Amino acid sequence: WYDFYISPKANPDGAPQVTILFQDITERKRAEEALRESEQQLKRLLKLRDEFIGIASHELKTPVTSMKVYAEIVAERLEEIGNQDASNLLFRLNAQIDRLIMLINNLLDTTKISEGQLRLDLEEIDLNELLRDRVEEIKRTTNHVFELHTENLPCVIADRERIGQVITNLLSNAIKYSPKGTTIRIGSRKEEEGVRVSVQDEGLGIPEGDIDKIFERFFRVTAKNMDTYPGMGLGLYISRKIVEKHKGRIFVQSKEGEGTVFSFMLPC
Ligand code: ADP
Repeated sequence: WYDFYISPKANPDGAPQVTILFQDITERKRAEEALRESEQQLKRLLKLRDEFIGIASHELKTPVTSMKVYAEIVAERLEEIGNQDASNLLFRLNAQIDRLIMLINNLLDTTKISEGQLRLDLEEIDLNELLRDRVEEIKRTTNHVFELHTENLPCVIADRERIGQVITNLLSNAIKYSPKGTTIRIGSRKEEEGVRVSVQDEGLGIPEGDIDKIFERFFRVTAKNMDTYPGMGLGLYISRKIVEKHKGRIFVQSKEGEGTVFSFMLPC
């Protein structure tokens, strides 16, 4: 491979003269080709990864859903015969099955998102009521203190399940990434652009350099501490996609060591 440059110039005696400069660019071309090839290979690998996630999560969903049904039947039987010890163990088993179902659903959601299949079932919802429900539900699982401050809000057109999923994601992150017994403040208010929901914790906070990346798929600040903070780095990615699908926006403000505020805005 050669590049060439032509520069016309006049001789001192006035005769026309042309300089042609050849440059060997074989190395550069080879490097460009290798880069193109590795980009294509990366694309193929990512496609394979997405296909694997789709198939594996789909196949896992059926047996886990059956486990949940059987566990509920056993729970009823144990209650009938009054075996409290076994009942308590089953309660824990159920909580783990719920966790597994949530992880599988997150994987299925990422497949839906990458295939453009995330659909909304829109209706008029009472956001404050949804907030209260989700806070009540999650309160039972932890000893954090919850403070809920709501303002009168106009009705919002949204997918109740999906927005509920965003709220639960933010609440469970606040619980997971802040010490037991600390306060989690949840608020709702009407603003010019729409309605805003916020979840504030007094936890680890997020390092400044990572703030821009936390909504990316599979990104985790705490990847080194998998056992202390289990997770797959999907909750915020899915939450952002759900909020954006509603033409809303999601925000984060955080200070390492002090705490984090996540909020999202939905148009009225
Ligand atoms: P996961 O919690 O499963 O890792 P998420 O997508 O919900 O995935 O969050 C991505 C990352 O953002 C987390 O791994 C964590 O490092 C950080 N993060 C999320 N919420 C908080 C929070 N409230 N406080 C501190 N860090 C957080």
